[in-house]
Amino acid sequence: MRTPVGRLLAIAALVGGGALLTGSSTMNPYYDPARPHHRPDGFQNVDPAARVPRSFAEFLRWQRERASLEIPPPKMDLSALVPDLGFIRGRTNHFSVTWIGHATALVQIGHVNVLTDPHFSERASPVQWAGPRRWQPPAVRLAELPRIDVVLISHNHYDHLDEDSVLALNGQDGGPPLFVVPLGVEKWLEGVGINNARALDWWDSLQVKDVTVHLTPVQHWSRRTLADANTTLWGGFVVEGTSRGKARRVFFSGDTGYSREHFTEIGRRFDGFDLALLPIGAYEPRWFMSTQHVNPEEAVRIHRDIGARLSVGIHWGTFQLTDEPLDQAATDLVAAREKLGVGSREFVTLRHGQTLRLDPFDKP
Ligand code: ZN
Ligand code: ZN
Repeated sequence: MRTPVGRLLAIAALVGGGALLTGSSTMNPYYDPARPHHRPDGFQNVDPAARVPRSFAEFLRWQRERASLEIPPPKMDLSALVPDLGFIRGRTNHFSVTWIGHATALVQIGHVNVLTDPHFSERASPVQWAGPRRWQPPAVRLAELPRIDVVLISHNHYDHLDEDSVLALNGQDGGPPLFVVPLGVEKWLEGVGINNARALDWWDSLQVKDVTVHLTPVQHWSRRTLADANTTLWGGFVVEGTSRGKARRVFFSGDTGYSREHFTEIGRRFDGFDLALLPIGAYEPRWFMSTQHVNPEEAVRIHRDIGARLSVGIHWGTFQLTDEPLDQAATDLVAAREKLGVGSREFVTLRHGQTLRLDPFDKP
């Protein structure tokens, strides 16, 4: 497989496309014909224009165009800060977010530690000899994490669901966390020996310890192999909890294209968010990516649609997945904020390893 074809397939399985085999012979055990995102053989976006994965011909066109591109290295310093392990492991009652890299963030609400899309491996790929390699090591190592109570997995793409990382978390000291996943992903977890997962459909919710977790619709897709496209669901998460007696609400979208319908609906159902973790990277070329990954301007629109008081841009600066330079998202975010009239402190980026303390009397 260490051939251009093998490399192409590794990339095809990861981002964007290559519907070499569409449809699936497996039945969707959750199929409910009353739900528009259900199909007998899997799931789909409700917007018929959001056709993902793209065709294999379109994927090849992207790869052909990409071969002649020279993507400049980042100008920005993307290196990690030394994480404040004393704070994040102190397990005091607080509200904070620490960006570990890509879509992996530690959200601490009260006494509950929530980890999003944990990825601590060298490559975001089905194989560790090919596929996108890390630009930055994880800013907090697995062994340095506090005990994790809840792991949220937004979908099964390789840059969001990493086998070695979930196995390590399952074996953490003090007992495994609860894995909360979209429908079907729990079966994959069972296949690698992880049995403490709960699967949710869009708008389902679940109480874990002192937090309530809801799965929301987003516009994306799923695949682990060339034959299982969209057989498991994808989604975003709302987490509601309490820190120091104050109710807190967080939104983590996972990967998504811009769907005004989904995000205004999320805004309608919940009364604002204290924190949103939104993807801002992996968006070029737009002709290929726009149905599945927002650009920074669309991320700012999501921030407004859902009524977030503070958003943190993630899913950039860690893996070179697409055609924009690794630091372009942060630059484009500044322009997008200005264009849409959103203040610089309302939608921010963090350094890898940086913790944002969100209790009002804490210093940022
Ligand atoms: Zn994805
Ligand atoms: Zn992704």
